[in-house]
Amino acid sequence: MKAVLLELLRCPTCSGRYRLELDRLVCSYCQAEIPLQSGISLFSDVPPDITPSEKRLRGAGMDTPWRCANTRFLAGEAQRIAGNAIVLDVGSGRGDFSSIFTDQRYLAVEIYPYPEVDVVCDLTKVNPFALGSLDVILLMNVLEHLPDAMDFIQNLSGLLRPGGKILAAVPFLVKIH
Ligand SMILES: [Zn+2]
Repeated sequence: MKAVLLELLRCPTCSGRYRLELDRLVCSYCQAEIPLQSGISLFSDVPPDITPSEKRLRGAGMDTPWRCANTRFLAGEAQRIAGNAIVLDVGSGRGDFSSIFTDQRYLAVEIYPYPEVDVVCDLTKVNPFALGSLDVILLMNVLEHLPDAMDFIQNLSGLLRPGGKILAAVPFLVKIH
C-alpha cells in the first residue's frame, strides 16, 4: 500500500484515522476493519456481475481518437500540476492515465481490484477520503455511467484542497448508457 494513503484515508463510519496491520486497515477510533488484498484496500464489495477489462497496450497509433484526445488533454493539464500534488483517478480502470502523472502522487480508485488499483471503492456510496485532502480528481469517462453526475461532483469537490481541481471528460458521440 502506498504510504500517502495512510494520510488520506479515513474511516467512513467515524472519520477516524487508520493504522496499518498485516492484511487490513484498522480504524484507530472505532476499530472497524478494512481488508487489504495484495495491498489494495477494499472499501466496497466487488459487484458479482462485473466483467473485468483486459489490460490493453496503449501508445502512439494504438489508441482510438477519443483515447488520444483524453491523453493529450491530461498531458497538457499535468504540466500545470505541482510535482507533489495528489491526483486521484476515480474510475481508473487499468490505470491507463497513470503514466501521465509520474511527477505527481497518482492514486487509482475503482470498483474492481485490478492490480493497478490502490483503493476499491464505490464513491457514490461510501467515501473513505479525508475532506480537503486532494489536489486533483480525475473523472475520465466516468460521469456518463452515473444517474446523478452533478450530485457526485458536488460530493467529490469536498475532498479537494482549496484551489484543487476536477479534470473530467465525457464521451459525446456514443450510444446512450
Ligand atoms: Zn472508525
